[in-house]
Amino acid sequence: MGTLNLPRKVSVLGSTGSIGVSTLDLFEQAGVEVEVVGLTAGRNVARLAQQALRWRPRLAVIQDETKLTELRERLKGSGIAAAAGVQAVADVAAADAQWVMSAIVGFAGLAPTLAAAKAGAVVALANKESLVCAGPSLLRTAKLAGGAVIPVDSEHSAIFQVLDPTIAAQVSKLILTSSGGPFRDASREEMAAATPERAIAHPNFSMGAKISVDSATMMNKGLEVIEAAYLFAMPPERIEVLVHPQQIIHSLVEYADGSTLAQLGPPDMRPPIACAFAWPDRLPWPAPKLDLVTAGPLTFQHPDPQKFPALTIAKQALAAGGAAPAAMNAANERAVSAFLDRRIGFLDIPNVVAETLERMDRADDFSTLNDALESARQTDAAARRVADEVVHGLAAA
Ligand code: NAD
Ligand code: MG
Repeated sequence: MGTLNLPRKVSVLGSTGSIGVSTLDLFEQAGVEVEVVGLTAGRNVARLAQQALRWRPRLAVIQDETKLTELRERLKGSGIAAAAGVQAVADVAAADAQWVMSAIVGFAGLAPTLAAAKAGAVVALANKESLVCAGPSLLRTAKLAGGAVIPVDSEHSAIFQVLDPTIAAQVSKLILTSSGGPFRDASREEMAAATPERAIAHPNFSMGAKISVDSATMMNKGLEVIEAAYLFAMPPERIEVLVHPQQIIHSLVEYADGSTLAQLGPPDMRPPIACAFAWPDRLPWPAPKLDLVTAGPLTFQHPDPQKFPALTIAKQALAAGGAAPAAMNAANERAVSAFLDRRIGFLDIPNVVAETLERMDRADDFSTLNDALESARQTDAAARRVADEVVHGLAAA
């Protein structure tokens, strides 16, 4: 690797998921020499153990404590230490890795991500929910500790690569692209009848179940608008979403002088992971390269707000500010989980989120404590309770 200045000590939080597996695959294919400090998983102990035996981390952590015996059993004789529980995940995130991939899904990723930022690591951020729930505080924490947050979400990675921060004030618009999800061309009737199997069948890639449902409702793009607003300090009215089914242009930055810069690549998460790993260098690896002749034609359309109300809900939560995005995120997590359990229909998901925010507004349930993590936790817990009541009401009807 010669002259590249790459991180050596790394941790991967959520190593058994779609992004975690892609991260380790990239390391493998690029042949980088990394010393793995920690690998963590939620419940998939078999895959975690298999990864640990290959990557020899100092510590393998399973969030689900009931699986610790099995993890120890599987790692017996390997010399790799095993631990379990929510605190153990946050502790390993705070250990001495220089680079931490944050790829846990949902609010559960916030505490470990904050812990890694506080420890001064470069945080490669896939876990967009942590920015949505505590964006300003996460970014401030990283800055104070001398670390950084580098986006892995493909749209934000695109903007990160083409936005010159020294002239951010001269940006007129950020344009986030979206595949449009599996229901881009579906009727409302088809959406109303959608099963979990149909909703998680994303057109271009295989991702975790939660983000797949978010792509189908377009709440994923709503979360990404909030993520972009925080990451790039951009007012909501200067962030636009365009549906681009081919997913070749990952996002664009429009400058005041009428010049628009875009970042392109095949629909694959490994290039944005590679970018976050090597930045400001470029990691050589046998990447699938973009062939513009076979990729085209590239098409664009405006999202349909009638079919995808989640996008509007997210923009309203961003405009409301404070704890509203965290409440929205929690309600969405509960609604997605109720949909995956077949307790509510697909079109109920945005309704649960909107109704939760409305009820919380009336009850003044948003927390505004000074401690960002505690504040986000209280809002998250309150919103989960309200969302569960709304789901219960719908499921009983
Ligand atoms: P996934 O469901 O495939 O993987 C999630 C990982 O987190 C797994 O390792 C799982 O074991 C672990 N996990 C789950 N719940 C946990 C908990 N409570 N505590 C600790 N660990 C837990 O999800 P994914 O598709 O890899 O997505 C991960 C994150 O990256 C999400 O925030 C998602 O929005 C974001 N992201 C994913 C993609 C993608 O292409 N998959 C693209 C952009 C952003
Ligand atoms: Mg994305």
